[in-house]
Amino acid sequence: MKRARPTPQPARLLARLEENGFRLTPQRRHVYQVLLSRPDHPTADEVFLRAKREMPEISMATVYNTLDALVQSKLVRLVNHDRGATRYCSNMRPHHHFCCDVCGAAFDIDEQPGWRLPSLDVPGGFQADRCEIVVRGRCPRCARPGPARRR
Ligand SMILES: [Zn+2]
Ligand SMILES: [Zn+2]
Repeated sequence: MKRARPTPQPARLLARLEENGFRLTPQRRHVYQVLLSRPDHPTADEVFLRAKREMPEISMATVYNTLDALVQSKLVRLVNHDRGATRYCSNMRPHHHFCCDVCGAAFDIDEQPGWRLPSLDVPGGFQADRCEIVVRGRCPRCARPGPARRR
C-alpha cells in the first residue's frame, strides 16, 4: 500500500476530455488538479470544498458535471462501496481498495506484478475482464485505540 505515484501529466491527460467531446474549461482543469493533488478518494462534496479554496466562484453543479466528464473520459473512476457516498479515484493504474468500515475512507492497494484474476467459477455466457478486490477493515487512524471516529 505505497503512497508514492509517478508524476501525472495533466496536460496530456486533459486532452482526453476534448477527445471525448468535453470543452476544456478552467473549472474542469482545476477540478482535475484537485483530484490529482490529493488522491485520497474524496466524495463529490469534498472535491467541491477543495476546489472552492482556489476558485471560490465554482458551483456544486459544475463540480458534479466535471466529475461526470472526467469519469466518461476515463481520467477518474468511481469507487462505490456499499456504505457512504460515491468516491472519486484519479489513479487509473490497476489497483484494488482497502475500505475502512469505521470512517468509510478508501485506500489504494497496488497490484503486485504477476497478479492474475483468481480462478472463479464465472457462470457460462459471462466474460470476465477484470476483478477488483475490496479488502475491509480499519484504517490506521481508526484502528488506534480511543474513542470511535465515525463520521
Ligand atoms: Zn478509518
Ligand atoms: Zn483508488
